[in-house]
Amino acid sequence: AKTRGRNSIHYFTENMSTDFLKRMEMIDDLRTAVEQQQFHLVYQPIVDLRTHQITKAEALIRWHHPQKGMISPIEFIPIAEEIGLIVEISEWIFNQVSQQAHEWRQRYCANLSISINTSPVQYRNEGKLVKAWADSLIAQGISSEAISIEITEHLLMENQAEVVEALEKLRQQGITISIDDFGTGYCSFSYLKNFAFDYLKIDQSFVQNMSIDNNDAALCEAIIVMAGKLNMQVIAEGIETEEQKQLLVAAGCTLGQGYLLSKPLSVADFEQLLIKQNQ
Ligand code: C2E
Ligand code: CA
Ligand code: CA
Ligand code: CA
Repeated sequence: AKTRGRNSIHYFTENMSTDFLKRMEMIDDLRTAVEQQQFHLVYQPIVDLRTHQITKAEALIRWHHPQKGMISPIEFIPIAEEIGLIVEISEWIFNQVSQQAHEWRQRYCANLSISINTSPVQYRNEGKLVKAWADSLIAQGISSEAISIEITEHLLMENQAEVVEALEKLRQQGITISIDDFGTGYCSFSYLKNFAFDYLKIDQSFVQNMSIDNNDAALCEAIIVMAGKLNMQVIAEGIETEEQKQLLVAAGCTLGQGYLLSKPLSVADFEQLLIKQNQ
């Protein structure tokens, strides 16, 4: 046992230092990525499950590292949040998305709305940042309906009062708000009592188990009914099979997103989809 203990300590410290070095390297790489604009955005359609009409999409960030290839946002967003670099990255996302949405609304789809994922840091200082966003939209002559904001329950957990106040300002200016990954946090329901969201996104873990687990199906159905009563529209995330889609439609869900409907698309591919939709 003694030997094993010593080995595991050795293993642990060694592991810790590689983790530490990896982290330092990631931080370095992230700073370079911002300087050299190594990021781009993809757009995943959010579809009307009955008509297949597309009037919404979610913007998702992609990082193509020149040597290491694609790095998932699940890996780098949390680190960008910790070191505060997310503020700069989000500024860029917001400008990209609002201009893109504006252009597509004028050319192909007058009621298009594109949602942006946001992080807790962006709501600090009485929501100064988000307020500046809304003002810059208006200054550029872009409709507030072109943009929608997604927040997670984790974000609300950090500082509910401050976040809710900032969101309230955005909503007054006509920007719609979604609660993302609904059902994965610790006390989802209390947030719904304190703030009126426009959209509720059912987390993909529920959707994907719908056809194999009766509990997940029951939860999805209950969430859809509840959202309706609270005047929120439901968006089901991560729809991968026809069966999941049918079950959701039967439960009264009208909007969905997932690989069955479309993967996240490049600007050019999303534009083709909008053009085809107009023909
Ligand atoms: P999320 O906001 O929940 O985004 C949905 C994720 O599910 C995306 O992964 C999307 O590509 C993926 N997805 C869509 N349909 C399906 C499906 O049918 N099956 C499966 N298995 N997955 C599907 P992605 O793009 O890797 O993003 C992961 C997470 O990273 C996002 O989760 C979000 O939390 C974060 N993220 C992505 N882009 C941004 C961003 O621009 N800003 C911030 N702050 N976070 C972002
Ligand atoms: Ca999201
Ligand atoms: Ca989500
Ligand atoms: Ca998620």
